[in-house]
Amino acid sequence: MEDQIEKRKLEITDRQVLELPQDVRFCTRCVMSNQRPRITFDEHGVCSACRYAEYKQSKIDWDARRREFIALCDRFRSKDGSYDVVVPCSGGKDSSTIAHRLKAEYGMHPLSVTFSPPVYSDIGWKNLRRFIDAGFDHVLVSPRGDVNRALTRLSFELYGDHNEIFDRGQMSAPFRVAAQHGIRLVMYGENGEAEYGGSSNYNECPGLPWDAFEKVYYSENLDKICSLANELGYTKSLTLNDMSSYRLPPIEDLRKLGLEMHWFGYYHHWIPQENYYYAAKNTGFHASPEGRMEGTYSKYAQLDDLTDAFLYYMMFIKYGFGRCTSDAAHEIRDGHLTREEGVALVRKYDGEFPEKTFHVFLDYLQIDEGTFWRTVDKFRQKHIWTRQDGEWRLRAQVS
Ligand SMILES: [Zn+2]
Repeated sequence: MEDQIEKRKLEITDRQVLELPQDVRFCTRCVMSNQRPRITFDEHGVCSACRYAEYKQSKIDWDARRREFIALCDRFRSKDGSYDVVVPCSGGKDSSTIAHRLKAEYGMHPLSVTFSPPVYSDIGWKNLRRFIDAGFDHVLVSPRGDVNRALTRLSFELYGDHNEIFDRGQMSAPFRVAAQHGIRLVMYGENGEAEYGGSSNYNECPGLPWDAFEKVYYSENLDKICSLANELGYTKSLTLNDMSSYRLPPIEDLRKLGLEMHWFGYYHHWIPQENYYYAAKNTGFHASPEGRMEGTYSKYAQLDDLTDAFLYYMMFIKYGFGRCTSDAAHEIRDGHLTREEGVALVRKYDGEFPEKTFHVFLDYLQIDEGTFWRTVDKFRQKHIWTRQDGEWRLRAQVS
């Protein structure tokens, strides 16, 4: 019985890894790999994210977009000071900047909403407090602890992405809170698919269409996760009602409420480094006191969750590129790094094992090191990895 369960666990995988191109290539302009799900490369070997960055810098009339944004705010702004926009907010540099600018520059009345990460870091919690203290109302949505732990483990073992379940919570909580308060506008940051390389279907959309949510953001639907959790022994008799923290309200209800989701980055030129300076100045945001994060050179992004480094580590295992590649690619596109500097940073830091938080990760998932490494090896793709002299090596690296 137990063997059968283990066998089932090994068979289930992230459908995205099955769709990867079998020849690994890197963008000739940034350092991104063609293994990034949904990214495309053109005939010059340039990735879709670089093309989008070029388009943003040269073709978009940002003054016109700003006027569009003002018109949007005018349509939703409350006259009596009641909440008129929900800002999904981790207390990080980007969401803090958006909430602050909505209030200070556009006269909006934001309610910020955080879906609690699995294990708060000290710096993440302090940044969130500093943000709230800077003058923001805030709702913290915490999922049921035992269910969240079990589903995080399931997400890691079955899909190689322990945040699969967190992402659902993070994506749906702001809409549930908005619906509860009768707020009709939810303001997200950037269109990640366009900015970092992914599907370009929504590049011209001010927000993600409702019917695309499931397809773009999640690997697996919630009913399936629920039944797998029970079948494979992660939970006993879990029901969809126990998973309400991860559910988007029915889309028909959201439409009926007239609720709209928009990307701040559609209307404003999105530069993460500038958000860092803005948040440091206006909402008391602090970079990591320990210097750079493991797996990259950056010290100001994704600080709030102690398990986060394993998201990037598993990305490195599944796709052959890690956190440093993502950071460097974006900074090359913004003109803050040359490609040569980016390549050097990637070769130095990409895929570095998150030693500092390994015990936190194992503890939270309640797994031992053997299970961890078995799961890691399950997600190594043959066209990306080769084993030489007892060590795993990437077949292709950016150069
Ligand atoms: Zn590129």
